[in-house]
Amino acid sequence: MKIKFLGAHNCESSTTKLVSLLIDEALALDAGGLTSSLPIEKQLALKGVLLTHHHYDHIRDIPALGMNALFYETSVPVYSTQAVRDALAEYWLNGTIYSNFLERPPENPRINFTVVEPLKAIHIDGYEILPVPVVHSIPAAGYQVTSTDGKAVFYSGDAGPGLSEAWPHVSPRLIITEVTAPNRFNEFGRRLKHLTPDLLREELLAFKHMKGYLPSVVLVHMNPRQEGEIAGEIAALSMELETSITLAYEGLVIKI
Ligand SMILES: [Zn+2]
Ligand SMILES: [Zn+2]
Repeated sequence: MKIKFLGAHNCESSTTKLVSLLIDEALALDAGGLTSSLPIEKQLALKGVLLTHHHYDHIRDIPALGMNALFYETSVPVYSTQAVRDALAEYWLNGTIYSNFLERPPENPRINFTVVEPLKAIHIDGYEILPVPVVHSIPAAGYQVTSTDGKAVFYSGDAGPGLSEAWPHVSPRLIITEVTAPNRFNEFGRRLKHLTPDLLREELLAFKHMKGYLPSVVLVHMNPRQEGEIAGEIAALSMELETSITLAYEGLVIKI
């Protein structure tokens, strides 16, 4: 399984993109920096776009995907829980902000949406995908993606303290989760349900205690202003926990 980080941040600029991951050119996880990172043909060849929650930085490119599908006379398969679909329909693809690609044209909507249920595995193009609820400020689900050879990655999307509630349901070789801010923002993280290195530490210790191992961890959703500070704290955490914990960047490719 090849994982490419199209976007690895929570702020967009000429050097940072919003969170989006690409698995084997078949699946996309979140759609922050998705359309700006791929040729249209590759966007429209995706077998599934999986959304973790409906915050802007994770759904931003869904309208753009719909418009591309319109002009290429096709549709894009998008998956998420009901809460994300409801938010897209009400606020984003509502016919005012942008065309209602969820329903138009009726015979073949440009966004071909499938609602997934928490903890009910689905199969897309040979991958087994398990949606797992995660703690965040709004309803959110991470995804464990398992390829045909049995290798699994778990991507949490945005998550805060209590991420460990997801651990009983997953057994990944690689965890991709978030760290938004450095340790001096622990209180912010607890309040708004994001992780700092300190808060991540508690969740990873819980994983090790529960599972008896600790996989490699790759982090996304860093805020660029404090990324250097986060990197220093994560390097110390990686040494302490004796596992690889690294920050992703746009264009990074990892094979598991
Ligand atoms: Zn969020
Ligand atoms: Zn976010």
